[in-house]
Amino acid sequence: MHGEEVLYSYSPATGEAVGSLPLTEISAIPGMLAKAKEVQKAWGERGLAERLSLLPRLRAVVLEQKEEIARLVSWETGKPYPESLAVELIPALDMIRFLEKEAGRILRPERLDLGWFVHKRSLLEHIPLGVVAIISPWNYPFGIPFTQVVAALMAGNAVLLKPSELTPLSGQLLVEIFGEAGLEPDLLQLISGDGSRGEALVATGPDKIVFTGSVATGKKVMSAAAQGLIPLTLELGGKDPMLVLRDANLERAANGAVWGAFTNAGQVCASVERCYVERPVAEEFIAKVVAKTGRLRQGSPLERAPGGEVVVKPVDIGPLINETQRRKVQAQVDEALSLGGRALCGGQERLDLPGYFYPPTVLVDVPPGAAVWQEETFGPLLPIAVVDSAEEGIALANDSRYALSASVWSQNRGKARAVAGRLEAGTVWINDVIYTYGLAATPWGGFKESGLGRTHSAEGLRDFTQTRHRNEGYYPLRSELQWYPYTEKKRIWLERLMRFLYGR
Ligand code: NAD
Repeated sequence: MHGEEVLYSYSPATGEAVGSLPLTEISAIPGMLAKAKEVQKAWGERGLAERLSLLPRLRAVVLEQKEEIARLVSWETGKPYPESLAVELIPALDMIRFLEKEAGRILRPERLDLGWFVHKRSLLEHIPLGVVAIISPWNYPFGIPFTQVVAALMAGNAVLLKPSELTPLSGQLLVEIFGEAGLEPDLLQLISGDGSRGEALVATGPDKIVFTGSVATGKKVMSAAAQGLIPLTLELGGKDPMLVLRDANLERAANGAVWGAFTNAGQVCASVERCYVERPVAEEFIAKVVAKTGRLRQGSPLERAPGGEVVVKPVDIGPLINETQRRKVQAQVDEALSLGGRALCGGQERLDLPGYFYPPTVLVDVPPGAAVWQEETFGPLLPIAVVDSAEEGIALANDSRYALSASVWSQNRGKARAVAGRLEAGTVWINDVIYTYGLAATPWGGFKESGLGRTHSAEGLRDFTQTRHRNEGYYPLRSELQWYPYTEKKRIWLERLMRFLYGR
């Protein structure tokens, strides 16, 4: 690569190198921003319909390349191949569909009701921000940045994308796909590298930052953004609770708990990280969860056959992303066990497999102060606590500095809704978990330390714009009531008018 520095990507399942790409020089980032600013002007001035005309081709390219995308994501993250299809590609395609159908309605100018100012007219125009910096994590390295990038672009912005250094090839493929669909190259540029590149990108002063990642990094990004008063959206971590009430469908709840806790090896911002179950059904529910967990097949999602072709393996759960993550999970389990907790399955890292595998682990009897109840694990751990009432479950569920999502499980609609209405979280599911992330129409984002702002949905799309208020007046009045001169006659008129307009 002619002496330029290179970033390698490795499979966490097998340790083999997946590939490499040029590392972006920090010194190149201001120039990239300048180019993006330049091309954004014309792009932003084009009509929405013209920008949206990119989408049918984009949809076709994603569909044509679905196997290649899903394989690359599975290589870089270790997630099962069907999971890559379901949670990386379907959200991407659903966002395209949503924008094709809804962007016109969401972004069209809105007329305001001005009350008695009948001689005036106000419009809200949702205009582009300029250049948006999108900084992404490794756990959904295609789906997360794709949904954000396409919405930012359709809203009329240019994008600088900084994918995680652990999954850079998925980010690179994403950028190539937009190019193949016909997007002008400088409108979407890739910045490859670690956090130092993310930091440099924030420091160059984009017009908006969308950061998805840990709370700790999110706070650094927010404080750096404050220097330039750069607006930002933060999609951060979670410690999401699942509340199983005594009248839940236990079979479905157990299936939901197992998928919710162990999909993507638990490395999901909204994974079920805490479960509270009412005492009358606790024994049966826990037995079901443990039995179902025991049936999960763990291993590398892909293998290279001796002939070189790639074979998709039938697995349900892959590895963790790296050794640091595995140590963190083991430390939380060790602490929970030392405090009197019990592992009903799992509990010890897997050294029989080459990658960073950790078995799906169900913990019970863990006392309240333990890290598994407080800190984001981001691994395949499911601590379950038995509660005496829904009330106790709600109190425990809300006792967290995180509040991304939560779920309540009950067959009684009235009760489920009442409990859902008291859970502190950006999304509350009744009898389901996680999946609405993949529905572009629904908003995504958290309360408390789980983040700021929303992505996806009408709100998320508008968050890629700024609102210009245009006020118009064409009546040839000599003066307005509130203008000079402040005469006695005007005072009387104003008092009468106030009584007339607002007195009833
Ligand atoms: P991370 O915070 O370590 O890194 C995220 C991104 O930020 C990476 O691209 C990284 O290179 C970059 N970065 C690091 N330091 C930076 C700095 N100082 N300035 C700018 N950028 C910097 O997070 P991660 O380990 O990649 O991802 C896991 C975390 O992401 C978890 O906490 C998870 O809950 C969270 N997450 C949240 C959502 C959500 O939608 N709320 C979705 C996925 C993941």
